[in-house]
Amino acid sequence: MDFRQAVTELEQSSQLRICKTIETAQASRVKHDDKWYILFGSNNYLGLNGHPDITQAAVNATEAFGTGSGGSRLTTGTTPLHQELEMELAKFKKQDAALLFNTGYMANLGVISAITDKSWTIVSDKLNHASIVDGSSLTQARTLRYKTMDVVDLKKKLSKVETPNTLIITDGIFSMDGEIAPLAQISAAAKEHGALLAVDDAHGFGVLGLNGRGTASELCVAHEVDLHIGTLSKAVPSVGGYVAGKKELIDWIRNSARSFIFSTSLPAGTVAASLKTVELLPIADDRRTRLRNNIIRLKSGLREMGISVHNDMTPIVPVIIGSAEDTLRISEYLLEEGYFVPAIRPPTVAHGTSRLRVSLMATHTPFEIDGLLAALKKGLEMVGEK
Ligand SMILES: *Cc1c(COP(=O)(O)O)cnc(C)c1O
Repeated sequence: MDFRQAVTELEQSSQLRICKTIETAQASRVKHDDKWYILFGSNNYLGLNGHPDITQAAVNATEAFGTGSGGSRLTTGTTPLHQELEMELAKFKKQDAALLFNTGYMANLGVISAITDKSWTIVSDKLNHASIVDGSSLTQARTLRYKTMDVVDLKKKLSKVETPNTLIITDGIFSMDGEIAPLAQISAAAKEHGALLAVDDAHGFGVLGLNGRGTASELCVAHEVDLHIGTLSKAVPSVGGYVAGKKELIDWIRNSARSFIFSTSLPAGTVAASLKTVELLPIADDRRTRLRNNIIRLKSGLREMGISVHNDMTPIVPVIIGSAEDTLRISEYLLEEGYFVPAIRPPTVAHGTSRLRVSLMATHTPFEIDGLLAALKKGLEMVGEK
């Protein structure tokens, strides 16, 4: 294969991707290429990154345990902090037990491949996160994918299941669209079919539900979900993934998930940061309210511009442009105007649905949101006139 040619083709179709550097702490204002920008692309939804109590917890644990954990969880890489975080996550999610992974990506890989084998069928939303797709490819289970959030199609797929066991898996909030999965209807379908239900709530954890307990809690179906999967790298300003559920499920996953077993555990500083945040989440209502107000302000502004938006609850706000080239142009224009908004292009999203993915934080000000709306309006006019 001619990789140089392949890369050139990506470049010519506006699909070549590079890593832009952020030279300051992830916050609503960041430095990039030595200039300051208002960042509308962070998953740090509650603006907790850099919170002094969380940073201090990480510093203390790093001083006590050092920077490396020195082993995998089942050998020498478990500190009391790892165990305490798992207990607190279980308590917070109102489940028997929880298990920590190094990332949300590794949680999905590990959980799906540990739970399923050829006696299972995985019934998966078509727009589920890449880590769910990859996790499903690691097992001998067959995967059936249903139209996104379409419960009629989900039931149709369930009726085609020929194996004794079924796993239904969905994102709680979809990462590129900000839409909320209809968990009440999905859990009813799961119950009717006798399927296990897993929800990956990477974007809902800390943001939605009572005390920030997540999307399933927001929709009052948390007790219907068997496997609660999530990340500690979005609203929680750390890194890590988790799964929470019944004791026997977690015990089985601890003993069979390869991404859990065959990887060095998280260092104590990271774990301590997550632990402190889980302690703070129930008292972060002021941040959730500010975030919600920001969501409403941005989405009403977009509606006034004739741009359709889904709900007033999730901080992920896609502005679909269509072509990768136009999306990149608007994103570059916004950058010139001082707004850092990522352009999302294929293969992350389908061809013809390239978009600006605006994400909001509790710490954005109304003034910053109005400024973004005005710049966006100009950017859209610019590509419309070409
Ligand atoms: C971000 C994300 C993940 C991956 O989590 P990481 O901790 O970043 O690896 C998994 N699932 C969904 C839905 C996500 O949005």
